[in-house]
Amino acid sequence: MAGPTGPAFVISVTHPFLYRRATSVDDAAQQLEHPGAVSLGGGTDLLVTIAEEITRPDLLVDLRTIPDSAGVRTLDDGRVWIGASTRIADIGRDALIVECFPALAQACDVVGTPALRHMGTIGGNLCQRPRCWYFRRGVPCLKNGGPSCPAVHGENQYLAILDGGPCHIVHPSDPAVALTALDATIEIASAGGRREVPISEFYVLPSERVDRETILASSELVSAVLLPREAAGGAQYYHKLMQRDAWDFALVSIAGCKRRDGDVRLVLGGVAPRPWRVNSSVEEDVSSGGLDEDAIGTLADRALYDTKPLSKNGYKVNLAASLLRQTIGELG
Ligand SMILES: Cc1cc2nc3c(=O)[nH]c(=O)nc-3n(C[C@H](O)[C@H](O)[C@H](O)COP(=O)(O)OP(=O)(O)OC[C@H]3O[C@@H](n4cnc5c(N)ncnc54)[C@H](O)[C@@H]3O)c2cc1C
Repeated sequence: MAGPTGPAFVISVTHPFLYRRATSVDDAAQQLEHPGAVSLGGGTDLLVTIAEEITRPDLLVDLRTIPDSAGVRTLDDGRVWIGASTRIADIGRDALIVECFPALAQACDVVGTPALRHMGTIGGNLCQRPRCWYFRRGVPCLKNGGPSCPAVHGENQYLAILDGGPCHIVHPSDPAVALTALDATIEIASAGGRREVPISEFYVLPSERVDRETILASSELVSAVLLPREAAGGAQYYHKLMQRDAWDFALVSIAGCKRRDGDVRLVLGGVAPRPWRVNSSVEEDVSSGGLDEDAIGTLADRALYDTKPLSKNGYKVNLAASLLRQTIGELG
């Protein structure tokens, strides 16, 4: 069978689709213009969503075959470039990342299983779909085109306590939480060229858009992640609480960074539809230092003032408070 711009072959799962190896970022962007085309990273999430019939692509564009799309290097302007096809495991053990951005290395080290970390790419990890049980099982929830979110009065143990509604997903990526604390930038490519957006603007809330979780148009791809040199070094932590303590998504996680100039960033994972940055006034108070145990507890409570737990996930407020107290103490 011929693909949109040349030879390809067909894999039959639930419905037939084409598979093509991209030869460059521009080639990938052009192929993604084809209706029904989707980006393929390691396939650890995409192939599952195809099997679950949440995704019904006509064409998979394999981004891993793009030359030089994987790796970590320092750019002339001092920023650190991570190619979108870089495997999670390779980021976790990269010497530059371990030394200068340990929060990211720690977050990569706790992603799923060793096999997932070896197959999964950072581009795919940042763009993976949410794990909500209703969405994944094809229940007619808002994301699946239904009229309402069944989790509100149903199984909402693992869902959002912040920024939720009308859909209450939580963002699943560990690296995204660390990258938000590090003020990373996402490089986005399309047939029209490339643009960079701060990761804080990359994810959208369900109240803004319920069919997708990022600002990406269907014809766009993530080509790289960029780390600012100002974020290198200082004190950095990534902590993750899981139900089974291994091989699992975060119930709640936290990335905490104190830069060399004293600036503090605190970002929670597992609590909201995107990595959730703590109020800047709390970060400023942490940055000032000199906090005793009572002051740390007060700051943790202040950080969580806006939480709105659902019927079965109030425990997440306590977990988040506990991680905040621990991390504020470490940064102090
Ligand atoms: C059992 C299990 C446990 C897991 N636990 C964790 C965990 O604890 N923490 C965690 O962070 N993750 C976890 N994951 C998710 C796992 O890390 C992701 O499946 C993986 O990172 C996705 O990467 P991939 O390269 O395989 O993406 P793919 O499966 O290829 O793609 C995922 C999605 O991203 C899109 N995509 C891929 N690359 C790009 C790109 N460059 N630009 C734009 N869109 C793109 C695809 O179209 C698809 O929608 C878990 C997954 C499983 C199955």
